[in-house]
Amino acid sequence: MIFDHDELATAVVFFGNDGLVAREMHYSEFEAILDNYVPTPEWSGKQARVVYLSIDNQLRIRSLVFFLIGFTRQGLIDPNWNLPLDKIAGSAMRGPDLGAGPIRLACASQCPIQYFKSMLWDPNLRAGSNQLGLLKKLVARNRLGIQFKDAPESELNAVKAAASAERMEKQISTELRSEYAKEFRDQMAQMLKDQRLRTATVANDGKRAISTLKLEHNHRIEEYRVIIEEKNRALADERERNQQLKDTIDGQAKKIEGLREYFEHKIEQAEGVGIENISALKDNFQLESEAKIEAATTELKDMLQMREMELLYRNEQESQLRDEITRLRKENQQLLSNSGEQLLNRLTEKGVSFVTYQPGAGHITIPLADTYSYMENPLAYSAAQCGVTESHYKAWLEHYQTPVCHHTDEQGSLCGENLPRIENPTDFHAGDEDRCESHKEIGGAQSLKLVSG
Ligand SMILES: [Zn+2]
Repeated sequence: MIFDHDELATAVVFFGNDGLVAREMHYSEFEAILDNYVPTPEWSGKQARVVYLSIDNQLRIRSLVFFLIGFTRQGLIDPNWNLPLDKIAGSAMRGPDLGAGPIRLACASQCPIQYFKSMLWDPNLRAGSNQLGLLKKLVARNRLGIQFKDAPESELNAVKAAASAERMEKQISTELRSEYAKEFRDQMAQMLKDQRLRTATVANDGKRAISTLKLEHNHRIEEYRVIIEEKNRALADERERNQQLKDTIDGQAKKIEGLREYFEHKIEQAEGVGIENISALKDNFQLESEAKIEAATTELKDMLQMREMELLYRNEQESQLRDEITRLRKENQQLLSNSGEQLLNRLTEKGVSFVTYQPGAGHITIPLADTYSYMENPLAYSAAQCGVTESHYKAWLEHYQTPVCHHTDEQGSLCGENLPRIENPTDFHAGDEDRCESHKEIGGAQSLKLVSG
C-alpha cells in the first residue's frame, strides 16, 4: 500500500494470549472486519488485545493505542464496540521514544478520555518481553509492504541539502567524537591507573591496619587469657577455701551432734535418776510412815493393854471388895444373930415369945428362927403368912388402909368413892374390890396389870 510522503500509514496488530503478535493488518483491512465483511472465526466468543499504530515515511512509530475488542460467537465484531481510534491517538499523551522522538501513547493507565479507559489495556514493558520493542521491530521489518511516495523536486533538493549538511555535521561530529573518545580513553586509562594505585595504597593501608588490629587483638587476647587464668586461680582458691569451710562446718555439725547426743543421754540419765530418787524417797517415806504408824500403834496398844490390865485389876479388886462386903455383912449378921440369939434364947428360956400384929394375918407368933427374916422384911413375911405374893399383899394393904375407888380419869383426878373393906387378902382382887360399881373392871388382865403396877 502506498501513502503520500507526508502522510502517516496506519495499521492494526493483534496480540495472542502468549503476549506475542498473532496477526498484523492494514487499517483498511481492519475496517472490513469492523464492517463485518470478513468474519474472523479464530476470535469467535473472545476478547482480543489489539494495537492501533500510526507510522511515518521513515517507518517509525508515531502513535500507539492499546485497545480491547470483543467478538460474537459467529466471529463478528461486538456490535456495541465503537472507539474513535484516530481521535484517541491524536489526543494521546507523550510516551517513550521509539526512534522519532516521544510517541503518543494511549493505554489503560494513560487514557486521554477517561470514558474509554475500561476499553483499553496496558502493554507489557518488562525486559525480554517488551511489547513496545516487538512493535518497533515489526514496523521496521515492514511485512505489510507499506510504501511512501517520493517528495517533490524542490522539497527533495532541500532534503538533499539538508542531507549533505547533515552528513557534514555527522562527519565533524564523528571526528570530534573519535577525538573526544581517544582523550576520554586516555583519561580513563590514567584514571584507572590512579585508581589502581589508590586501591593498592588503600589495600596496603588496610593490610597494615588489619595487621595492627590483629596484633592488638592478640595482645588483648593474651591479656584476657592472663585475666582468665588469674580468675581461674582465684576461683580454684575460693573453691578450696569453700571446701575447707564446708569441712569445718561439717566437723562442727558433727561435734554439735555429738554434744547433743551426750546431753540427751545426760538428760535421760538425769530423768532416770530423778525417777529413782523419787521412788526411793517414796519408799523411804512409806517405810518411815509405816514405822511411825507402827510405833504409834504399838504405843497405843501398850497403853490399851495397860488400861485393860488396870481394868482387870480394878474388876478383881472390886469383886474382892464385894466379897469382902458380903463376908463382912455375913459376919456382921452372924455377930448380930449370935448376940441376938443369945439374948433371945435367954428371953425364950425365961418364957417370953414374940407376937406381932399384921393386918390380914392378925396376931402372929414369930419363932426364934424366923426373927431374922421378919426383921429383914416384915411385909414379905406377912404376905407369906397370908399365902399371897408380896405385891398382892401390898395392893390389898393399900385398899385396907383407904377403902376408896382408886380409879383415876384422864385429868388424873381420883374417883375416891367409899367402898366396903375386904378383911382377907386372899379375897381381894386388884381392879375389882378397889373400884366403885361404875369403874369396876372386868377380866383378869386389867386386875393383873393393876396388881403388877
Ligand atoms: Zn369409883
